[in-house]
Amino acid sequence: MTLVLVHGGVSGVDKAMPGLQDAIRAGATQSNALDAAEEAVRSLEDHPELNAGYGAVLNRAGEVELDAAIVDGARGRWGGVANVRFRNPVSLARMVMERTPHVLLAGTGAQEAGVAFGLEEMNESSPEQHERWARERDAGRLGLESYGRSEHVDTVGVVVLDEASRLCAASSTGGVLGKLPGRVGDSPILGAGTYASSGAAVVGTGVGELFLETLACLRAARLIEEGLDPQAACERTVSLLGERQQVAAGLLALDTGGRVGAAFRGGSWSVWGPEGPIGAVCLGPARD
Ligand code: ASP
Repeated sequence: MTLVLVHGGVSGVDKAMPGLQDAIRAGATQSNALDAAEEAVRSLEDHPELNAGYGAVLNRAGEVELDAAIVDGARGRWGGVANVRFRNPVSLARMVMERTPHVLLAGTGAQEAGVAFGLEEMNESSPEQHERWARERDAGRLGLESYGRSEHVDTVGVVVLDEASRLCAASSTGGVLGKLPGRVGDSPILGAGTYASSGAAVVGTGVGELFLETLACLRAARLIEEGLDPQAACERTVSLLGERQQVAAGLLALDTGGRVGAAFRGGSWSVWGPEGPIGAVCLGPARD
């Protein structure tokens, strides 16, 4: 049985649990870790209450700009996309990995590639997100001084281990609500918001700039590869992030023994596995 763990973002806002459970079920039907990671994230991207695909938050101009990545830990391959407008950007990330000689495509070129590959374009996200954006704008909360508030983040991600001991990781996001147009977050960048190797799979959520500056997922994975328990590796890395900046941040990790780690800073974080919710360890509040 393929082991699939999913998270719904570290905003502190309670997530629709059926969405996370559906994603686990969608992934667990696949015997290959890569297929499982893609299927699970596609399911999360289709969910209107999660910040990815159809439910994605909007940038400061009220536009959809999505980031995603998928990593095949066993083969050491990675694909990422940034600033795209598709319902399922994780599938484009996989296409970049498998059907192009590149690892990361962004903006217009990435959009053209997705269209050429036959993906469904998505220029608007859910009506709720457009209404939310208008409310935040009217309340003056889209200025750069409000950037990175806990409730403005919420990437989704998965880590997967299949029966052949292959690890994969995938993330997908609308990024941080109110980000400047053109901003690229951590989710599509290997080692920052998403990482997998033959020994560890790690995904992150929170204010992406902190993960980009520290390569947080790579740090946690290295600790696991050196023998540290995934829980200890996540806690140590989230503590380190907190020494830099006390914003919302979470790390979810898995090793080849099926050992899980989940730690975060912030209000609450929904992480689920096949047996139900996983108690991610909270290391402190986020200071907005
Ligand atoms: N890490 C994401 C980003 O900065 C946001 C999130 O986790 O919600 O793009």
